[in-house]
Amino acid sequence: MIHDTYLGLPIEFWFSGPLGLPFHLWTLELTLMGLLVGSFLNVVIYRMPLGKSVVRPPSHCPNCEYRIPIWLNLPIISWIQLRGRCAQCHAPISPRYLVVEAITGAAFLMTWLAWGHVHPGQAGALCVLWAGLIAATWIDLEHYIIPDEITLGGVGAGFILSALAPALQGVETAVLAMRRSGIGAVVGALVVYAVLRFGKLLFGRLKIALEPGSRVVFHETGVLLPEGNVPYEEIFYRPSDAVVCHGERVELSTRSYANQPVRLELLRNPPRLRIGNETMNAEEEPWMAVVTKQITVPREAMGMGDVKLMAGIGAFLGWQATVFSLLGSALLGSVVGLGLIAIGRRDWQSRLPYGPFIAVAAVIWQLAGHSLTHWWIYDLMKIQE
Ligand SMILES: [Zn+2]
Repeated sequence: MIHDTYLGLPIEFWFSGPLGLPFHLWTLELTLMGLLVGSFLNVVIYRMPLGKSVVRPPSHCPNCEYRIPIWLNLPIISWIQLRGRCAQCHAPISPRYLVVEAITGAAFLMTWLAWGHVHPGQAGALCVLWAGLIAATWIDLEHYIIPDEITLGGVGAGFILSALAPALQGVETAVLAMRRSGIGAVVGALVVYAVLRFGKLLFGRLKIALEPGSRVVFHETGVLLPEGNVPYEEIFYRPSDAVVCHGERVELSTRSYANQPVRLELLRNPPRLRIGNETMNAEEEPWMAVVTKQITVPREAMGMGDVKLMAGIGAFLGWQATVFSLLGSALLGSVVGLGLIAIGRRDWQSRLPYGPFIAVAAVIWQLAGHSLTHWWIYDLMKIQE
């Protein structure tokens, strides 16, 4: 479906003529904008999970508070020029800054080259989606959460951009596009929520067998098992999630118990700790050690953040994209899991969040979804067209 007009004006108007710019001037502009957006995403990735404002104060070194002047805050160039160190205190600056800027710039460039000729508006809308997915991926990897500002904001942005650029949904009119966007958001949320609930019934709990007499320490941010530390964000997603064990001995900072069942529900309000028949506020007990031979933790591949993330993807790309992303992310997750086992880092697997797999699968859908589903249905399953 190739348009000869865009937003009511002939396509030549946008790329030549008195007000238009030649196509590759737009390419340059979009790429530069991608680099600047990448720079802003770094601020979002660092500040949003900490609940800080993403606009104020201006960029500064987190180590020495040095306020970074604009000529040392250029995407990619500044990081290389300063060799990844603060200009004042020489504290290392994460290579993430460089990587996010480069990925965002490249994503904008390639999106413009692929879709800009036919549907400039769709290319712009896709760039907004990529920016959201890059931020969501990085925050999920570092904090095991995806902020609502990104996921629910993405649902709203996808809906509005579908109306402005109906080509995003593969249709001609704003009304049709908004309908597809709405259906995409609802289906996206439902498919992930269904897996989350159903998965809970199937493998909702994981029993971890320990050496008899093992000591498990619950501290402020996570639980220290003999195999290593597990942050609470990896264990608790919903108020009903509980860590359960039978304590041969239970020690709190002020007292201890013998032979009592222990149940910790951190996302209750207030967070709840039960030892035997006694219920207390877990916030008032920052430290607990339990001697036990088995501990049961809720096991969840996905959380509510992934439900909202998929709703956002559906709002941008339609419901087909969400079904594809769900299946694709599960496949990607398994491949990466097998890869980690192969290199002997099985322990990393439980620490990998699910959001990034959904994001990567959504990108694959937009790039190749049509040909992949075609290959799957007609070639692999030998169905005649
Ligand atoms: Zn510094």
